[in-house]
Amino acid sequence: MRTGRCLCGAIEWQTDVNPTAVHYCHCSMCRRWSGGPFATLAWYPQASVRWTNRQPVEFRSSPIAVRSHCEICGSPLHIAYDGQNEIALAVGSMDAPEDLKPTHHYGSEARLPWVDIGNALPTKKHRKNGEARVNAIMD
Ligand SMILES: [Zn+2]
Ligand SMILES: [Zn+2]
Repeated sequence: MRTGRCLCGAIEWQTDVNPTAVHYCHCSMCRRWSGGPFATLAWYPQASVRWTNRQPVEFRSSPIAVRSHCEICGSPLHIAYDGQNEIALAVGSMDAPEDLKPTHHYGSEARLPWVDIGNALPTKKHRKNGEARVNAIMD
């Protein structure tokens, strides 16, 4: 089983199956929705996803899709295209996404020229009293 939740914990989800696809989306709508330079999405059969606490708030983000978020904390949660029986969950909401392997980029015409994850950049860990520590306690 894979589980996820929004930042405040009001919304939780579960699924028993593996994603059919995992990818990055560089489109401008996913950028605004996620608040980042791209979104990372994992696709699941809609019927396999259970919202186990509050329901996410859906809004029509384009003529062909709805996106959702938590009405309390604003965490992005899922995308559903009209007429498709799969939905994309925001990988950022997953409790344990470490084993996922994104397979492709989508919306690459909108990809920001500096998006390369920067593996060669110097790295810093969170400060001991920073939010990562709070997150570790909450998790
Ligand atoms: Zn929330
Ligand atoms: Zn997108």
